[in-house]
Amino acid sequence: MSLENLPPLREVIATHGLAPRKSLGQNFLLDLNLTGKIARQAGDLSGYDVLEIGPGPGGLTRALLAEGARKVVAIETDTRCLPALAEIGAAANGRLHVLSGDALKLDPLPHLQGPVKVVANLPYNVGTELLVRWLTPSTWPPFWESLTLMFQREVAERIVAKPGSKAYGRLAVLSQFRADPNICFELSPQAFSPPPKVTSAVVHIKALAAPRFQAEPKLLSEVVARAFNQRRKMLRASLKGVVPEIQAVLENVEIDPQRRAETLSLEEFCKLSEAVRVARRQG
Ligand code: SAM
Repeated sequence: MSLENLPPLREVIATHGLAPRKSLGQNFLLDLNLTGKIARQAGDLSGYDVLEIGPGPGGLTRALLAEGARKVVAIETDTRCLPALAEIGAAANGRLHVLSGDALKLDPLPHLQGPVKVVANLPYNVGTELLVRWLTPSTWPPFWESLTLMFQREVAERIVAKPGSKAYGRLAVLSQFRADPNICFELSPQAFSPPPKVTSAVVHIKALAAPRFQAEPKLLSEVVARAFNQRRKMLRASLKGVVPEIQAVLENVEIDPQRRAETLSLEEFCKLSEAVRVARRQG
């Protein structure tokens, strides 16, 4: 059997008894034209290992293999999906490697060879957590060259948000500090089975070779989290305790202590976190 001759996904779901489970965020994509379109947002896959989280019945997995991925490493927690994925593996001459378990606990790196792209229709309940982990590795550049991910539209908007908007927050700063995120296209609930309540969007995030501005990533993350934790407060209040003299530190980098987190640009957050670093060293 070749990839093109695999049965339609509805048939696969019926044969293997894959009734979608809400608790696992199972909203499946059954249209192979659509999964092909998503896979193509990741660019050329030949010569790349692809990490996929949550292959489910394998619609996107098939597309990634058909688009020429050297190898797909797919982590799936629902063991009911394994026989369907094994059929895809057999049709793809061993280019599919399935890891059975929780993507938050399994380390796929021993199974991947660079260069790597990540492509996934993420389970909503672990999507943001995985994204934050991929954006905050201990070394940069990260193991991935790009992330092509499906999110709820509201999360996609938070990833690409600019200062001054309601969606701007920690996710925007972390995503834009040393990567370049774009929304590729939106998908209506009807694209999925069963349809979720909200519109979804595919986001493509390309890793930059180096950060846009100098900052110590862990400290930047801490400052941004603190600032947005109380986003309606002035920075002098929301950042109280980050360093004893936060008002003076803000003034030193020419940020008015009365401003609110959502008005600060990425460059200003980086400047501020560098100033906090220096103040902590001196203190
Ligand atoms: N990729 C398939 C598609 O596009 O039709 C399924 C996408 S569905 C939104 C999310 C998938 O992630 C489900 O197959 C679900 O079982 C799986 N999943 C949920 N939580 C997971 C976890 N912690 N680790 C790995 N897979 C998970």
